Amino acid sequence: MESPAWYTPYTPYQPEIAQGRLESLVNYQTMIMSMTAMDIANASLLDEATAAAEGMVLSYVSSNQKKRSFFVDRGVLPQTLDVLKTRAKGFGIRLVVGDVFADLKDESLRADLCGVLVQYPNVDGSVADFSSVAEYAHSNGALVVAATDLLALTMLKPPGEWGADVVVGNSARFGVPAGYGGPHGAFFACTEKLKRKMPGRLIGRSRDVEGKPAYRLALQTREQHIRREKATSNICTAQALLANMAAMYAVYHGPTGLKRIATKVHLLTNTLKTSVEQLGFKITNPEFFDTLTIDVTGAVANAGVLHKAAAAVSVNLRQIDDKHVGVTLDESVGPVDLLRLINIFRAATSTSPLQSISAVSVSSTSSAIPATLQRTSEFLPHPVFNSHHSETEMMRYIYHLQSKDLGLVHSMIPLGSCTMKLNSTSSMVPLTWPEFGAVHPFVPKDQELEDDLCKITGFHACSLQPNSGAAGEYAGLSVIRAYHESQGESHRDICLIPVSAHGTNPASAVMAGLKVVPVKTLADGSLDLVDLKAKAEKHKDNLAAFMITYPSTFGVFEDGVQDACQIIHDNGGQVYLDGANLNAQIGLTNPATCGGDVCHMNLHKTFAIPHGGGGPGVGPICVAEHLTPFLPTHSIVPVGGDKSISAVSAAQYGSASILLISWAYIKMLGGDGLADSSKTALLNANYMAHRLKDHYNLRYKNANGRVAHELLIDLAEFDKAAGLKVTDFAKRLQDFGFHPPTCSWPISTCMLIEPTESETLEEIDRFCDAMIQIRKEAEEVIQGKQPKENNILKNAPHPISVLTQSDAEWNRPYSRQQAAYPMPWLLEKKFWPTVSRIDDAYGDLNLICDCPSVEELASH
Ligand SMILES: *Cc1c(COP(=O)(O)O)cnc(C)c1O
Repeated sequence: MESPAWYTPYTPYQPEIAQGRLESLVNYQTMIMSMTAMDIANASLLDEATAAAEGMVLSYVSSNQKKRSFFVDRGVLPQTLDVLKTRAKGFGIRLVVGDVFADLKDESLRADLCGVLVQYPNVDGSVADFSSVAEYAHSNGALVVAATDLLALTMLKPPGEWGADVVVGNSARFGVPAGYGGPHGAFFACTEKLKRKMPGRLIGRSRDVEGKPAYRLALQTREQHIRREKATSNICTAQALLANMAAMYAVYHGPTGLKRIATKVHLLTNTLKTSVEQLGFKITNPEFFDTLTIDVTGAVANAGVLHKAAAAVSVNLRQIDDKHVGVTLDESVGPVDLLRLINIFRAATSTSPLQSISAVSVSSTSSAIPATLQRTSEFLPHPVFNSHHSETEMMRYIYHLQSKDLGLVHSMIPLGSCTMKLNSTSSMVPLTWPEFGAVHPFVPKDQELEDDLCKITGFHACSLQPNSGAAGEYAGLSVIRAYHESQGESHRDICLIPVSAHGTNPASAVMAGLKVVPVKTLADGSLDLVDLKAKAEKHKDNLAAFMITYPSTFGVFEDGVQDACQIIHDNGGQVYLDGANLNAQIGLTNPATCGGDVCHMNLHKTFAIPHGGGGPGVGPICVAEHLTPFLPTHSIVPVGGDKSISAVSAAQYGSASILLISWAYIKMLGGDGLADSSKTALLNANYMAHRLKDHYNLRYKNANGRVAHELLIDLAEFDKAAGLKVTDFAKRLQDFGFHPPTCSWPISTCMLIEPTESETLEEIDRFCDAMIQIRKEAEEVIQGKQPKENNILKNAPHPISVLTQSDAEWNRPYSRQQAAYPMPWLLEKKFWPTVSRIDDAYGDLNLICDCPSVEELASH
């Protein structure tokens, strides 16, 4: 968590320079599959509540959108139910909340039931056998989604063994700080037959062109950047860094260590139970793993007083109502904490307060888990979870993996739209201080960051809940829908989206219950205002929203943005501004001035939160005054009023702990500094455009000949002349030690390049020199000096294993020197890709998403 080699890399879209974290994410997937006993798992989702919502939507989609009732057991966590409510609305799913054993078999439900959600163990700590629920659901063509806890699964029969189709949960317990609610990696696992509908990113095995095993993102065709409004979910940024942390925790402890930790937790919980019962209190859940619900009726103090007494000695006791408290023990609870807890109950006994004790004998080792629900199957038998158990070995494994990955620790990552900027140590160091890291989510907090973001965007109010940009889009559009509803216009359901928009835009619109109508762009890249006007007028009775990115995804400030917003407002719609490019606006203009009503920000792009290799992110939304009453609330820490939409993430402030980074960034720069950042970002991009324009086709600039904070170069001519694709240029950049820019988006033949304000002139020149050198290499292919198939671009990248081939094997029309050291500075500073180009299709045809087993490793 404190290592820039792990937190600065980008999402592993360039797998040849990302094998380390890809391996670690496969460890994560393997861990989830093994613990839950499911066939396949993804590489993380945003939080447990949104993962459960994805499970609900998957159930609905699996019924071919014919069955609309989704049953939620009363034992599900309240924040999960909150998020389900919001999500169900957009899809028109009917939520039925009840006791899964008493109410599920209601005859009126049977024909319309698409799925059931249960919590295992549930909110009051009970462990129940849901196999009959699964049988009933399956016999009626419905799916079972189980929300569960990884540590409990070391002792509990895993959901995959009693019939769950989807298993979700939060992996924070495996070594991730509470951080005031987040971030943490949620997991999502499912059965084989649901794998192509699974949301989120999935890492799979494949091979490189030399036949060497290699990992890469699998089944990309499911994702929203390809499927747009037909995508199965809008997940883009997820929680890669936190998934890596949780996976490393399992690598370090292994199955034996995890069992030891779970045993200790269970034993201490059992001991607490015995002690509290001896004092005359009643435990309402006799079967449990680590959580007790205690009836304190008859105590001298009520539950509220007990809660306060516990807080005073720094232990967590949850007040459920006047008569009940709940307590959950975790691995950090030791004998001292246990005694504190017991003494709180001793002081509260009904007769007269008993004296504190300073020792307690541990209860018998008998399990409070019913025999039929005890885990008998093994877990984590894979070599990686059984090898690195000393600190030295663990350190070496972590360093071995990170040495394969290119991050900002090596060179610039010029990713258009994704803005990889400086992640300063001074803004991040507080994250791991216990004063921030160890804070439980459900406590109040101050307002400063919200106020600053409102000033920056020109809007009136802010919600910090969304855990990613896409989650912000969904939240903002849901707010727009609630607003229309309040005006008696709930029929407004058309969302206009330019064809150039990011794929999450249409995917989010569909999730919010909107119908997507695409709007054209003109040949110069700007929005087609004639088409926009025609479509806005055509749909004026049902127009809900328009989504626009500014500066546009083509990297220009378009003149017509205010006119576009006016057209929408004239026809009864609201304007959603995608704020991914806000770093070109701050201090110079703002979304309110542009004419928007709501925008999201990607704090992990514009406001200095590192990408973490694919998350965590934060996607807060800011809204104009008339939308303020509709911002999301939270049932545990209520904010807002009776018009608020229900929650969009599990914790009231989403990924709260990393908000510190953006807060520190804004405070340290101040208003003038932020404006200077925008100006420098614009200057750097225009400098780069100027240096590259004689070598590459600069696709768009505005009337003044300028680009915004990023530039789009078109490589179509090279394909025409010599069959060289965008990918060939991208892979060749890896040989120069650079991460390629955004490829083939928003135009398939283009690269979108963004230097940001954080890079020095020297680094920008180094990148331009590399691009110009590759242009020369391409010219050799065009001139026929290198063949069209076997050339230095097509064969890139060049790992050491290829360069050290024998002379007989090296049948290439260029030297090893040219391949590895095309620029003199590479002799001094070289980053080596660890595999050659990876075959995507092979991996998708032979989908394998876990790490090698003992047998496989032995057969190599
Ligand atoms: C990154 C991005 C998004 C999605 O943000 P996530 O945080 O990855 O969900 C949406 N729109 C644009 C233009 C982006 O660049």
